[in-house]
Amino acid sequence: MEKEQIQQAVNLYLAEKGYERMALEAAMFDMDGVLFDSMKNHAYCWHETMKHFGLDLPEWEAYMHEGRTGAGTINIVSMRERGHEATEEEIERIYHYKSEMFNQCPKAERMPGAYELLQKVKASGVVPMVVTGSGQKTLLERLHRNFPNIFCEELMVTAFDVKYGKPNPEPYLMGMEKYKKAHHPQKGEGFRDVLSKNSFIVVENAPLGVQAGVAAGVFTIAVNTGPLPDDALLSQGANLLFHSMQDFCDHWEMVVECLR
Ligand code: MG
Repeated sequence: MEKEQIQQAVNLYLAEKGYERMALEAAMFDMDGVLFDSMKNHAYCWHETMKHFGLDLPEWEAYMHEGRTGAGTINIVSMRERGHEATEEEIERIYHYKSEMFNQCPKAERMPGAYELLQKVKASGVVPMVVTGSGQKTLLERLHRNFPNIFCEELMVTAFDVKYGKPNPEPYLMGMEKYKKAHHPQKGEGFRDVLSKNSFIVVENAPLGVQAGVAAGVFTIAVNTGPLPDDALLSQGANLLFHSMQDFCDHWEMVVECLR
């Protein structure tokens, strides 16, 4: 990736949104498939679980559904395979089976390049945040253990905060509100009065996550860490795409220069 390409992507975003320039203050990171290499386990467990219940969900397709609720994914497969939605009781059984299997999987490793990138982000004066649909009980502890001194708890958005989840823009809108409350508390209600969406970026690996970031009106950087073609992310409106977190990390200096 050349600097001109990055600048061009930024200029396109600015023209489309009517901003004069970027004013980056905070970077909102998705967690699964971005900070942790956890999607392989999810995809495997979804595939095996569906097979157990006589349904077919190929592993690659699980990546397309990343970010959806368990019930949402189960119903899409059920409609396709059987022509009707699953009952509540079926959903509960299937999702329980999948969760149990996931908990047996080895704990996902930190995504290569993620910690180095987060340290660079912080050192350049940009506040790193986590915005995830995950609601694992050990989430906070895992984040602090794997990424010491990076994240601040009051700036996190998790499954416990949101009503709709991605691809709804809600989690990212909430992230911006939380940032505003913590960093510009004196200046009235609503981040729009003091902060604009050009003060943020979103970092996502999943098509539905990119959709959420774009719908929130934020400059959205896709990191293609899975098996999907780049177009699965670009077609959702990603402003920029890197092929790994290490790739993004190696280009951070260029990116941040274009986003100030
Ligand atoms: Mg993800």
